[in-house]
Amino acid sequence: MVNGYTPTSLAEALAIRAREIVTPYAGGTDLMIDERREGSYLFLHRVQEMKGIRREGELLCLGAACTYTALMESALTPALLKEAIALIAAPAIRNEGTIGGNIANGSPKADSALIFFVADASLRLASVRGERVMPIRDFYLGRKQLALMPDELIVEVLLPMTWMEHYCYEKVGARKALAISRVAFAGLMTIRDGVIQHAATAFGSVSDVIIRKPELDAMLIGKTVAQAKAVRDAYLEAYREVIVPIRGRVSAEYRKQVCVNLLTEFLSQHGI
Ligand SMILES: Cc1cc2nc3c(=O)[nH]c(=O)nc-3n(C[C@H](O)[C@H](O)[C@H](O)COP(=O)(O)OP(=O)(O)OC[C@H]3O[C@@H](n4cnc5c(N)ncnc54)[C@H](O)[C@@H]3O)c2cc1C
Repeated sequence: MVNGYTPTSLAEALAIRAREIVTPYAGGTDLMIDERREGSYLFLHRVQEMKGIRREGELLCLGAACTYTALMESALTPALLKEAIALIAAPAIRNEGTIGGNIANGSPKADSALIFFVADASLRLASVRGERVMPIRDFYLGRKQLALMPDELIVEVLLPMTWMEHYCYEKVGARKALAISRVAFAGLMTIRDGVIQHAATAFGSVSDVIIRKPELDAMLIGKTVAQAKAVRDAYLEAYREVIVPIRGRVSAEYRKQVCVNLLTEFLSQHGI
């Protein structure tokens, strides 16, 4: 028998979180394979404030307890996020698994988190002490280390929609279905009148934390395609230096080369 609380409002959930040590439990698809946990669970599936999907100007506000299935069924969800979700696990897992759980699990293999990184999304965190909004990039302090206080919950993901239209997404796994990624890549690029208005890239499953380097992508922004071509090699070289894969089942050299190949392909798709 699993002990736990099933709050029906965010205020109730935060009050319990403040009062005792509980493990937030959203879909349970990561927690269910972790048998070592003790203590009570804080079930989040009935907290309506964490399940909404709404547009506020240029931001899409996604409740942390939204399941992948709910996001796939929403007309508001951008195509890039749907493409990534379609490759996560299998329908049964997607019916239960949530974006908040994917982010809070702290894995660099988290496929929805990769999309939130490339889009420079922020997280709305809440506790009984109040709320704060934090860029997702600042949320990860290291492997499985989060900037989440013991009394806080991730309530929403705030996803800027401005540059989401033109994207590239690749998940390299051992097989097509039910694969955990060995390398995952997401790129955004908007070119108007021959000038790069926006470029953003991110890699998952490579380092302890998803790699996102806006300072490198800045080498391309504001340039014409011809000017970007001229800095292409310098850009790829700069990226080679920051991609330092951790050791894993798949060799670090292989994963680094795959990253560079994916980046090269992304650039060439845009004539760079
Ligand atoms: C067979 C299988 C295949 C999978 N394939 C993939 C895959 O292809 N890609 C992928 O990315 N993942 C995959 N996963 C992992 C998992 O399904 C996802 O990470 C999922 O999004 C986790 O969400 P959840 O709601 O089930 O999290 P839970 O298991 O409920 O929670 C995960 C962690 O997050 C914490 N947490 C949850 N919600 C919050 C919140 N709102 N605030 C603070 N902390 C919170 C929990 O305490 C726990 O530490 C797979 C898992 C399985 C079992």
